[in-house]
Amino acid sequence: MQLHELVNTFGQDLRRRYGERVHKLTLHGGFSCPNRDGTIGRGGCTFCNVASFTDEKVQVQSIQEQLQDRAKEIKRASKYLAYFQAYTSTYAEVQLLKNMYEQALSGADIVGLCVGTRPDCVSDDVFALLAGYVNQGYEVWLELGLQSANNDTLKRINRGHDFEVYADIAAKARSLGIKVCTHLILGLPKEGRSDNLATLDAVLEAGTDGIKLHGLHIVEGSTLARAWKAGKIDLLSLEEYVSIASEMIQKTPAHIVYHRVSSSARRPTLLAPLWCENRWLPMTEIGRQLDKSGSQGILIGDSFIPD
Ligand code: SF4
Repeated sequence: MQLHELVNTFGQDLRRRYGERVHKLTLHGGFSCPNRDGTIGRGGCTFCNVASFTDEKVQVQSIQEQLQDRAKEIKRASKYLAYFQAYTSTYAEVQLLKNMYEQALSGADIVGLCVGTRPDCVSDDVFALLAGYVNQGYEVWLELGLQSANNDTLKRINRGHDFEVYADIAAKARSLGIKVCTHLILGLPKEGRSDNLATLDAVLEAGTDGIKLHGLHIVEGSTLARAWKAGKIDLLSLEEYVSIASEMIQKTPAHIVYHRVSSSARRPTLLAPLWCENRWLPMTEIGRQLDKSGSQGILIGDSFIPD
C-alpha cells in the first residue's frame, strides 16, 4: 500500500477537500530570526543552519518574481498554497507582513497561506492579520516549530521558548480558525523513543491539526555540527527513525494531517546521517512498516481509512 493509504497525508487531505491536487509553493520573505539576531538569543537553535533547507538567492527576489520562478511547479496543479518557510516568517512589522502575504495571496489560484514561525513570534496583530484571511475564505496554516515538548530539551537545543508558550499559541490560533501544524524532531540529543512519544501526547493534548516529523540531521554551520565532529552526538539509524515515526503515526488520531513524515537535506551541507539525503527512502520504509503493523491511529483504536 502507498503511504497515503496508511497515513492521513496533507496531499490527500487537500485533494479530498478541494477535489483536485493543491501544490505548496515555497516562498522566501527574507525574514530574519529573533533566535539568531539577539532579540531572543544568538546562534540559533543548535540544529539550525537555514541555508540547508532554502535557496538563499531568493531572498532578494520579490514575491511576484518568486511566483514567476515557480512557473514550472505552477503547471503541476491548478490550485496552490503559498508557503513562507524560511527563518521566522512572522518576524517583521505587521504592515510588511501584510504586503508580503497579500502579494502571495493575489497570485493566480492561491487558496491559502502556510506560515512557518516560532511560537513566541506571533503577536496579536499577526493573529488579527491571519484571522482576517481565514474570514475571507482562505486556508491558513501556522507552522509552529516546537521540536520537543520537554522543556529541558528545549533549553539544551537553545530554542528560547518553552512548551507552555507553544501550547498557548496553538490554542489561540485554533480558536481563530487558523490551523496549526506542529514541527517535531526525532533523535534530539538525550532524547529517545519514550521522549518522542511523550511529546506526541503533549501536542495532542494541547490540540493540533497537523504534524511534521523530521529526523535530527547534522548540517554544516550548525552548533551541533561541532559536537558531531567531536564524536559527541549519536544519531538515529534509518531503522530506528522508521520504527519511532511509525509508532507515533499509529498513536495519532486519524483526523490529524501529516504534512511530512521525514525530511531531507543535501550534501555538502548535510553531514549526517546520510540516509537523510534520500527524500523517498524513509517515506517508503515507514509505508512498509505501517503496511505490516497497521495504519495511522491503529494503536488508539482510530484507524485511518483512505477514501
Ligand atoms: S530553527 Fe528556526 S527558530 Fe531556530 S534558529 Fe533556525 S530559523 Fe531560528
